[in-house]
Amino acid sequence: MPVEEALERLLALAEKAPIAETEHLALAEAEGRVLAHELVAGLDLPPWPNSAMDGYALRLADWQGEPLRVTQRIFAGHAPEPLEPGTCARIFTGAPLPEGADCVEMQENTEVLADGRVRFLESLSLAQNVRPKGQETRVGEQVMSAGTRLGPIELGLAATLGYGTLEVRRQPRVAVLSTGDELVEPGLPLGPGQIYNSNRRLLVSWLQRLGCEVVDAGILPDDLARTRQSLAELGSVDLILSTGGVSVGEADFLGLALREAGELALWKLAIKPGKPLTFGHYQGVPVIGLPGNPASTLVTFGLLARPYLLRRLGVGNVAPLRFSVPAGFDWPKAGSRREYLRARIEDGLVRIYKNQSSGVLRSAAWADGVVEVLEGSTPRQGDAVTFIPFSELLG
Ligand code: AMP
Ligand code: MG
Repeated sequence: MPVEEALERLLALAEKAPIAETEHLALAEAEGRVLAHELVAGLDLPPWPNSAMDGYALRLADWQGEPLRVTQRIFAGHAPEPLEPGTCARIFTGAPLPEGADCVEMQENTEVLADGRVRFLESLSLAQNVRPKGQETRVGEQVMSAGTRLGPIELGLAATLGYGTLEVRRQPRVAVLSTGDELVEPGLPLGPGQIYNSNRRLLVSWLQRLGCEVVDAGILPDDLARTRQSLAELGSVDLILSTGGVSVGEADFLGLALREAGELALWKLAIKPGKPLTFGHYQGVPVIGLPGNPASTLVTFGLLARPYLLRRLGVGNVAPLRFSVPAGFDWPKAGSRREYLRARIEDGLVRIYKNQSSGVLRSAAWADGVVEVLEGSTPRQGDAVTFIPFSELLG
């Protein structure tokens, strides 16, 4: 199955299973959450014309080149008096323009005379250094659409409009399962044939960044009865996310147990790393089974499970930003699967990590993102290739 088709199917499934409940949160709590409704400006921004500079405000038509008397001082946060005709006002950045003024000159272009009058040293023009009322936003304009993910910028924007709370989608509850007798949690001693469980840490912290509540279901041993029992104990979740144990190996007990109480389809994706991916449900709860090799887990979560999850929260644009960069490598062997090479950009060229094995997570730690090499293509040094930064996928 081509990557696009898998993504399309997952997004369609996500739209059928929206996590639609909402809650009202203070801005301080809303980081990483998804806006439930469009946000409309209840204010003009700025609410009144104000000065973009520290300087002097005047009415341009009143000025014929002569020095002007200063008749008031206007600080930010204070209400001005109307401007006395033929005079100017001392004004500071962000302070409201007095009625009658239509121009601000910055103090650097002025000279204060011994008698206190101000001489303007340069020519002046109408509306210079004035931020007009409503130049950013007008009352009633939509400033953010439903499904916007709230980061520092969006929260800052909501704050400029005076919103103290926002209505957001509730957090998805995601159960993370690791499978395999070989897995041991970091910090414990390794027995023969064992490896440390890295996928759990990777996924749990990634999901938390995506605003999920994680139900950490630990390690399932390769044993059917215990796998059944762990699944039965999960409680109420919106998604079961597993790694390993669902391909066609003899020890793939998770697949067996899931099939007994639901449905599970095995998709053979044209993606490398990460060919086997399963999708189905367990007692009605959607299940995504990611391949167990750490680099495969990373790529399939980032490119498929992440957009699926965000779409269930109503996020419209789930595609990561990607851009074209000249290759700093040769890729002579055309593949039948789409490859995501762990790569970094250096001196304007994108370079790939020497070992692209799906078991190697170090490649991704070295990298800043992935290069997408399309099926059948053989990019050469200097050819344009597509780069997707990890910063896009992780946030
Ligand atoms: P599986 O799909 O269970 O056959 O696993 C494929 C490969 O990924 C095997 O080499 C596993 O040891 C490895 N693997 C599976 N789960 C994890 C995990 N949670 N952390 C690190 N490696 C894993
Ligand atoms: Mg396994």
